[in-house]
Amino acid sequence: MSKRTVCVIKYGNMKDKDESQRGQVGVLDTPDIPVGPHDVKIKVAYCAICGSDPHIVNRAFPERVPPFGLGHEVSGVVVELGPEATVKGLKVGDRVAGNFMRFCGSCYYCANGQQQFCTDKVSEVGSPGMSEYVVWDEGQVFKLPDDVSLREGCILEPTSVALRIADKSNITAGMRVAIQGGGPIGLLTLQIMKMRGATSLTLIEPIKDRRDIGTSLGADYTIDPTTQDVVEECNKITNGLGYDIVVEVSGFAPAADIPLKIASVCGTILYSAMFPNEFELPVNLYEYCYAKELTITGTMLSPYTFPRAVQLMSRMDYKPFTEISFPLEEAPEAFATHLTGKYPKVLINCNEDLADK
Ligand SMILES: [Zn+2]
Ligand SMILES: [Zn+2]
Repeated sequence: MSKRTVCVIKYGNMKDKDESQRGQVGVLDTPDIPVGPHDVKIKVAYCAICGSDPHIVNRAFPERVPPFGLGHEVSGVVVELGPEATVKGLKVGDRVAGNFMRFCGSCYYCANGQQQFCTDKVSEVGSPGMSEYVVWDEGQVFKLPDDVSLREGCILEPTSVALRIADKSNITAGMRVAIQGGGPIGLLTLQIMKMRGATSLTLIEPIKDRRDIGTSLGADYTIDPTTQDVVEECNKITNGLGYDIVVEVSGFAPAADIPLKIASVCGTILYSAMFPNEFELPVNLYEYCYAKELTITGTMLSPYTFPRAVQLMSRMDYKPFTEISFPLEEAPEAFATHLTGKYPKVLINCNEDLADK
């Protein structure tokens, strides 16, 4: 038995003008994965394309050898449970979403509250999400709230990432917050920062449609870095104080120094995008770490945020992220559409009978 899965079939930049060098995805038959005692088999409804997926096609994890499956933002319906997958009370027919990462729970890091550094973690490579079926450990699977559709459900994983960014920023109500990058993580983080009492909430983003979405989701200000002087605008907005928290989620290397310049004294900067592996940013330590006492940090994955992200889902606005979907067999078109930047999120419907009407 086999299932259809969206795979990386050729490494390379998906936007390479030279077609012979261009990275490619395709839909392949991949072997069924046996359901172990603690596993849950999910018939996938939707898997969203993540900003990191084209990076993976472009060798972000060079140890993986094509063809291999993609996809980690998954929703679907439980179709089979291992005999010992009984801890959460999941049942066949339950609508679920999940965490593509499986943490061992036993290693030093898992026991020390740092499961993202688990030495025995298993990623989506074992059972990729852009597929008709995934088989995940029960611990990775979360039941969706009744008022969250399957189409919205695949946004659970990015929501968990945004929640982790907000957690690590240590925001308290009244803090001034700027977000550089209006992709899905930026726009989800914006919503959560708003809920947590952010002020002077500013979205820095070159695409007008995304700035408009930012405004509709609660941004107090938006800045277009292609036509406006970002530092000057930020100074105006914050009366020269700068932002207590700056979240960098554009991953755009030429703008990577902007957060340093718009953070307030004692501010916190989170570099949470996947920057190119080789990119280095020079930082004036006297200016930023001595004279301004900045905290410069980042986030990887979303440890310990899934249970709260599930509970938050009903309060999130997912409309901008669920507008467009393609059937599984049209995955190459879905990626091409994703790469145009026209939609903040492009979904792949992996089983037609589970498509939301
Ligand atoms: Zn993702
Ligand atoms: Zn571990």
